[in-house]
Amino acid sequence: MRSGLIAVAGRPNVGKSTLVNALAGGKVAIVSDKPQTTRRRISAAVNGELEGEPYQLVLVDLPGFQRPRDPLTERMQRTVDDTLEDVDGFLFVLAASEAIGRGDRFVAERVFAAGPPVVVALNKVDRVSPARIAEQIAVAAALGEFHALHPVSALEADGIEPLRRDLASLLPEGPAYFGEDQRTDLPLEAQVAELVREKALALTREELPHAISVEVDELDLGEGRVRALVWVETQSQKAIVVGKGGSMIRAIGTRARPEVEAAVGRRVYLELQVKVRPRWRRDERALERLGI
Ligand code: GDP
Ligand code: MG
Repeated sequence: MRSGLIAVAGRPNVGKSTLVNALAGGKVAIVSDKPQTTRRRISAAVNGELEGEPYQLVLVDLPGFQRPRDPLTERMQRTVDDTLEDVDGFLFVLAASEAIGRGDRFVAERVFAAGPPVVVALNKVDRVSPARIAEQIAVAAALGEFHALHPVSALEADGIEPLRRDLASLLPEGPAYFGEDQRTDLPLEAQVAELVREKALALTREELPHAISVEVDELDLGEGRVRALVWVETQSQKAIVVGKGGSMIRAIGTRARPEVEAAVGRRVYLELQVKVRPRWRRDERALERLGI
Protein backbone atom coordinates (compact mmCIF):
# COMPACT_ATOMS: atom_id res chain seq x y z
CA MET A 1 0.00 0.00 0.00
CA ARG A 2 0.90 3.66 -0.16
CA SER A 3 1.01 5.88 2.91
CA GLY A 4 2.44 9.15 4.04
CA LEU A 5 2.14 12.50 5.68
CA ILE A 6 0.66 15.59 4.08
CA ALA A 7 1.00 18.87 5.98
CA VAL A 8 -1.91 21.27 5.64
CA ALA A 9 -0.64 24.84 5.45
CA GLY A 10 -2.29 28.20 5.03
CA ARG A 11 -2.91 31.39 6.93
CA PRO A 12 -5.61 31.40 9.61
CA ASN A 13 -9.26 31.24 8.51
CA VAL A 14 -8.81 30.03 4.92
CA GLY A 15 -10.66 26.81 5.82
CA LYS A 16 -7.89 24.30 6.59
CA SER A 17 -9.79 22.52 9.35
CA THR A 18 -12.98 22.41 7.29
CA LEU A 19 -11.03 20.96 4.37
CA VAL A 20 -9.37 18.32 6.57
CA ASN A 21 -12.82 17.28 7.80
CA ALA A 22 -14.13 17.13 4.22
CA LEU A 23 -11.18 15.04 3.04
CA ALA A 24 -11.45 12.74 6.06
CA GLY A 25 -15.20 12.41 5.52
CA GLY A 26 -16.03 13.26 9.12
CA LYS A 27 -15.27 15.65 11.90
CA VAL A 28 -11.71 15.56 13.18
CA ALA A 29 -10.76 19.21 13.49
CA ILE A 30 -12.76 22.01 15.02
CA VAL A 31 -13.86 24.86 12.85
CA SER A 32 -14.44 28.47 13.81
CA ASP A 33 -14.79 31.85 12.20
CA LYS A 34 -12.28 33.19 14.74
CA PRO A 35 -8.68 33.04 13.54
CA GLN A 36 -6.18 30.79 15.31
CA THR A 37 -8.71 28.28 16.54
CA THR A 38 -6.51 25.29 15.85
CA ARG A 39 -3.89 25.18 18.58
CA ARG A 40 -2.80 21.59 18.52
CA ARG A 41 -1.28 19.63 15.74
CA ILE A 42 -4.04 17.25 14.66
CA SER A 43 -3.58 14.29 12.37
CA ALA A 44 -6.46 12.82 10.43
CA ALA A 45 -6.34 9.57 8.50
CA VAL A 46 -7.94 9.27 5.08
CA ASN A 47 -8.19 5.74 3.71
CA GLY A 48 -8.91 5.04 0.09
CA GLU A 49 -7.88 3.30 -3.08
CA LEU A 50 -6.01 4.64 -6.06
CA GLU A 51 -5.93 2.55 -9.23
CA GLY A 52 -6.69 -0.58 -7.22
CA GLU A 53 -4.02 0.07 -4.60
CA PRO A 54 -5.05 0.97 -1.04
CA TYR A 55 -3.63 4.12 0.48
CA GLN A 56 -3.61 5.94 3.77
CA LEU A 57 -3.16 9.66 3.71
CA VAL A 58 -2.29 11.22 7.06
CA LEU A 59 -3.23 14.89 7.04
CA VAL A 60 -1.59 17.09 9.63
CA ASP A 61 -3.68 20.18 10.32
CA LEU A 62 -1.14 22.67 11.56
CA PRO A 63 -1.77 25.62 13.80
CA GLY A 64 -1.57 28.80 11.75
CA PHE A 65 1.74 29.99 10.47
CA GLN A 66 2.55 33.17 12.30
CA ARG A 67 5.23 35.22 13.91
CA PRO A 68 5.63 34.10 17.54
CA ARG A 69 4.46 36.69 20.10
CA ASP A 70 4.21 34.78 23.37
CA PRO A 71 4.81 31.21 24.63
CA LEU A 72 1.55 30.03 23.05
CA THR A 73 2.29 31.25 19.52
CA GLU A 74 5.93 30.27 19.93
CA ARG A 75 4.94 26.68 20.68
CA MET A 76 2.50 26.68 17.78
CA GLN A 77 5.31 27.85 15.51
CA ARG A 78 7.68 25.20 16.84
CA THR A 79 5.10 22.53 15.99
CA VAL A 80 4.99 23.86 12.45
CA ASP A 81 8.76 23.82 12.04
CA ASP A 82 9.08 20.29 13.44
CA THR A 83 6.51 18.99 11.00
CA LEU A 84 7.90 20.57 7.84
CA GLU A 85 10.96 18.37 7.89
CA ASP A 86 9.52 14.99 7.07
CA VAL A 87 6.34 15.27 5.06
CA ASP A 88 5.58 13.72 1.68
CA GLY A 89 3.76 16.76 0.45
CA PHE A 90 1.91 19.93 1.29
CA LEU A 91 -1.70 20.88 0.93
CA PHE A 92 -1.49 24.66 0.70
CA VAL A 93 -4.89 26.24 1.27
CA LEU A 94 -5.96 29.68 0.00
CA ALA A 95 -9.34 31.39 0.13
CA ALA A 96 -10.75 32.41 -3.26
CA SER A 97 -13.22 34.74 -1.55
CA GLU A 98 -10.52 36.96 -0.08
CA ALA A 99 -7.58 38.89 -1.48
CA ILE A 100 -4.49 36.68 -1.65
CA GLY A 101 -2.09 38.83 0.32
CA ARG A 102 0.86 39.10 2.64
CA GLY A 103 -0.25 36.40 5.06
CA ASP A 104 -0.60 33.92 2.19
CA ARG A 105 2.77 34.92 0.76
CA PHE A 106 4.43 34.42 4.14
CA VAL A 107 3.18 30.82 4.18
CA ALA A 108 3.89 30.31 0.45
CA GLU A 109 7.55 31.24 0.83
CA ARG A 110 8.09 28.59 3.47
CA VAL A 111 6.01 25.87 1.83
CA PHE A 112 7.52 26.21 -1.64
CA ALA A 113 11.04 26.40 -0.20
CA ALA A 114 10.61 23.22 1.87
CA GLY A 115 11.11 20.79 -1.03
CA PRO A 116 8.21 18.29 -1.02
CA PRO A 117 5.53 18.75 -3.73
CA VAL A 118 2.80 21.31 -3.10
CA VAL A 119 -0.85 20.81 -3.97
CA VAL A 120 -2.76 24.09 -3.87
CA ALA A 121 -6.42 24.14 -2.80
CA LEU A 122 -8.20 27.34 -3.70
CA ASN A 123 -11.03 27.09 -1.18
CA LYS A 124 -14.37 28.87 -0.69
CA VAL A 125 -15.19 28.97 -4.40
CA ASP A 126 -18.87 28.76 -3.41
CA ARG A 127 -18.56 32.42 -2.43
CA VAL A 128 -17.30 33.87 -5.72
CA SER A 129 -18.19 34.14 -9.41
CA PRO A 130 -16.53 31.96 -12.06
CA ALA A 131 -14.71 35.02 -13.43
CA ARG A 132 -13.31 35.81 -10.01
CA ILE A 133 -12.27 32.16 -9.53
CA ALA A 134 -10.29 32.36 -12.77
CA GLU A 135 -8.53 35.54 -11.56
CA GLN A 136 -7.72 33.95 -8.21
CA ILE A 137 -6.36 30.81 -9.90
CA ALA A 138 -3.92 33.03 -11.80
CA VAL A 139 -2.81 34.78 -8.59
CA ALA A 140 -2.46 31.46 -6.74
CA ALA A 141 -0.51 29.90 -9.60
CA ALA A 142 2.06 32.70 -9.45
CA LEU A 143 2.94 31.97 -5.81
CA GLY A 144 5.25 29.07 -6.57
CA GLU A 145 5.85 25.90 -8.51
CA PHE A 146 2.93 23.65 -7.61
CA HIS A 147 2.20 20.00 -8.35
CA ALA A 148 -1.54 20.59 -8.84
CA LEU A 149 -4.10 23.30 -8.19
CA HIS A 150 -7.70 22.55 -7.23
CA PRO A 151 -10.55 25.03 -6.84
CA VAL A 152 -12.72 23.57 -4.04
CA SER A 153 -15.43 24.30 -1.54
CA ALA A 154 -14.69 22.51 1.71
CA LEU A 155 -18.01 23.69 3.08
CA GLU A 156 -20.08 22.22 0.26
CA ALA A 157 -17.73 19.26 -0.30
CA ASP A 158 -17.20 20.36 -3.89
CA GLY A 159 -14.08 19.25 -5.75
CA ILE A 160 -12.91 17.11 -2.83
CA GLU A 161 -12.54 13.73 -4.56
CA PRO A 162 -10.12 14.87 -7.32
CA LEU A 163 -8.09 16.70 -4.67
CA ARG A 164 -7.96 13.57 -2.51
CA ARG A 165 -6.75 11.52 -5.50
CA ASP A 166 -4.02 14.01 -6.33
CA LEU A 167 -2.79 13.98 -2.73
CA ALA A 168 -2.82 10.17 -2.69
CA SER A 169 -0.70 10.11 -5.84
CA LEU A 170 2.12 11.79 -3.89
CA LEU A 171 2.39 8.96 -1.38
CA PRO A 172 5.27 6.48 -1.39
CA GLU A 173 5.01 2.80 -0.49
CA GLY A 174 4.45 2.52 3.24
CA PRO A 175 2.55 0.91 6.11
CA ALA A 176 -0.81 1.93 7.62
CA TYR A 177 -0.23 4.29 10.51
CA PHE A 178 -3.80 4.30 11.77
CA GLY A 179 -6.26 1.47 12.38
CA GLU A 180 -9.24 1.02 10.03
CA ASP A 181 -11.70 3.01 12.10
CA GLN A 182 -9.33 5.36 13.85
CA ARG A 183 -9.61 8.74 12.20
CA THR A 184 -7.50 10.94 14.43
CA ASP A 185 -4.54 10.64 16.79
CA LEU A 186 -5.99 13.02 19.36
CA PRO A 187 -6.67 11.24 22.65
CA LEU A 188 -10.36 11.07 23.56
CA GLU A 189 -9.97 13.64 26.35
CA ALA A 190 -8.46 16.09 23.90
CA GLN A 191 -11.21 15.45 21.32
CA VAL A 192 -13.85 16.17 23.96
CA ALA A 193 -12.00 19.30 25.10
CA GLU A 194 -11.79 20.54 21.51
CA LEU A 195 -15.51 20.01 20.95
CA VAL A 196 -16.37 22.00 24.07
CA ARG A 197 -13.97 24.75 23.04
CA GLU A 198 -15.52 24.89 19.58
CA LYS A 199 -19.00 25.49 21.04
CA ALA A 200 -17.66 28.06 23.51
CA LEU A 201 -16.02 29.94 20.62
CA ALA A 202 -19.16 29.77 18.52
CA LEU A 203 -21.39 31.15 21.25
CA THR A 204 -19.20 33.89 22.72
CA ARG A 205 -17.89 37.04 21.11
CA GLU A 206 -15.38 39.75 21.86
CA GLU A 207 -11.84 38.90 22.79
CA LEU A 208 -12.54 35.52 24.25
CA PRO A 209 -11.13 33.18 21.59
CA HIS A 210 -7.55 33.44 22.73
CA ALA A 211 -8.46 33.45 26.39
CA ILE A 212 -10.51 30.24 26.39
CA SER A 213 -8.99 26.85 26.85
CA VAL A 214 -10.61 23.59 27.88
CA GLU A 215 -9.29 20.70 29.91
CA VAL A 216 -11.13 17.42 30.52
CA ASP A 217 -10.41 16.32 34.07
CA GLU A 218 -12.79 13.37 34.26
CA LEU A 219 -13.82 10.96 31.53
CA ASP A 220 -15.61 7.98 33.01
CA LEU A 221 -16.99 5.91 30.16
CA GLY A 222 -18.39 3.28 32.51
CA GLU A 223 -20.61 5.79 34.30
CA GLY A 224 -20.95 8.10 31.31
CA ARG A 225 -19.62 11.08 33.25
CA VAL A 226 -17.52 13.76 31.62
CA ARG A 227 -16.27 16.82 33.44
CA ALA A 228 -14.46 19.62 31.65
CA LEU A 229 -12.90 22.79 33.00
CA VAL A 230 -13.22 25.85 30.84
CA TRP A 231 -10.28 28.11 31.62
CA VAL A 232 -10.38 31.85 31.12
CA GLU A 233 -7.99 34.57 32.18
CA THR A 234 -10.13 37.12 34.03
CA GLN A 235 -13.26 37.39 36.17
CA SER A 236 -15.03 39.40 33.48
CA GLN A 237 -14.37 36.67 30.92
CA LYS A 238 -15.71 34.16 33.40
CA ALA A 239 -18.89 36.21 33.73
CA ILE A 240 -19.35 36.09 29.93
CA VAL A 241 -18.76 32.36 29.63
CA VAL A 242 -21.03 31.54 32.58
CA GLY A 243 -23.75 33.91 31.35
CA LYS A 244 -26.82 35.19 33.18
CA GLY A 245 -27.80 32.59 35.73
CA GLY A 246 -25.50 30.09 34.00
CA SER A 247 -27.34 30.36 30.67
CA MET A 248 -24.24 30.60 28.48
CA ILE A 249 -22.37 27.66 29.95
CA ARG A 250 -25.58 25.59 29.77
CA ALA A 251 -25.96 26.47 26.09
CA ILE A 252 -22.35 25.46 25.45
CA GLY A 253 -23.00 22.13 27.17
CA THR A 254 -26.22 21.53 25.27
CA ARG A 255 -24.51 22.09 21.93
CA ALA A 256 -21.41 20.08 22.80
CA ARG A 257 -23.11 17.04 24.32
CA PRO A 258 -24.37 15.32 21.13
CA GLU A 259 -20.95 15.62 19.49
CA VAL A 260 -19.19 14.47 22.65
CA GLU A 261 -21.53 11.47 22.74
CA ALA A 262 -20.74 10.69 19.11
CA ALA A 263 -17.00 10.92 19.87
CA VAL A 264 -17.05 8.67 22.95
CA GLY A 265 -19.71 6.31 21.62
CA ARG A 266 -22.25 6.53 24.44
CA ARG A 267 -24.62 8.88 26.22
CA VAL A 268 -22.90 11.07 28.78
CA TYR A 269 -23.59 13.51 31.54
CA LEU A 270 -21.44 16.50 30.62
CA GLU A 271 -20.47 18.80 33.45
CA LEU A 272 -18.76 22.09 32.62
CA GLN A 273 -17.00 24.35 35.12
CA VAL A 274 -15.62 27.77 34.32
CA LYS A 275 -12.40 28.67 36.11
CA VAL A 276 -10.07 31.64 36.10
CA ARG A 277 -6.35 31.20 35.65
CA PRO A 278 -4.68 34.56 35.07
CA ARG A 279 -2.34 34.71 32.12
CA TRP A 280 -2.45 30.97 31.36
CA ARG A 281 -1.17 31.70 27.88
CA ARG A 282 2.18 32.77 29.28
CA ASP A 283 2.38 29.83 31.65
CA GLU A 284 4.58 27.12 30.12
CA ARG A 285 3.41 24.49 32.60
CA ALA A 286 -0.22 25.15 31.85
CA LEU A 287 0.50 24.88 28.11
CA GLU A 288 2.23 21.57 28.69
CA ARG A 289 -0.78 20.20 30.55
CA LEU A 290 -3.15 21.38 27.85
CA GLY A 291 -1.09 19.47 25.32
CA ILE A 292 -0.17 22.52 23.29
P1 GDP B 1 -8.73 27.46 9.41
O1 GDP B 1 -8.43 28.55 10.39
O2 GDP B 1 -7.92 27.63 8.17
O3 GDP B 1 -8.62 26.08 9.98
O4 GDP B 1 -10.26 27.69 8.95
P2 GDP B 1 -11.60 26.94 9.42
O5 GDP B 1 -11.70 25.60 8.79
O6 GDP B 1 -11.72 27.02 10.92
O7 GDP B 1 -12.69 27.86 8.69
C1 GDP B 1 -12.75 29.27 8.88
C2 GDP B 1 -14.11 29.78 8.46
O8 GDP B 1 -14.28 29.64 7.04
C3 GDP B 1 -15.28 29.02 9.11
O9 GDP B 1 -16.30 29.95 9.40
C4 GDP B 1 -15.71 28.05 8.01
O10 GDP B 1 -17.06 27.68 8.10
C5 GDP B 1 -15.46 28.88 6.75
N1 GDP B 1 -15.21 28.04 5.56
C6 GDP B 1 -14.34 27.01 5.45
N2 GDP B 1 -14.39 26.46 4.21
C7 GDP B 1 -15.31 27.16 3.52
C8 GDP B 1 -15.84 27.06 2.16
O11 GDP B 1 -15.48 26.21 1.35
N3 GDP B 1 -16.78 27.98 1.83
C9 GDP B 1 -17.24 28.94 2.69
N4 GDP B 1 -18.17 29.79 2.26
N5 GDP B 1 -16.78 29.04 3.97
C10 GDP B 1 -15.83 28.17 4.38
MG1 MG C 1 -8.08 25.37 11.84
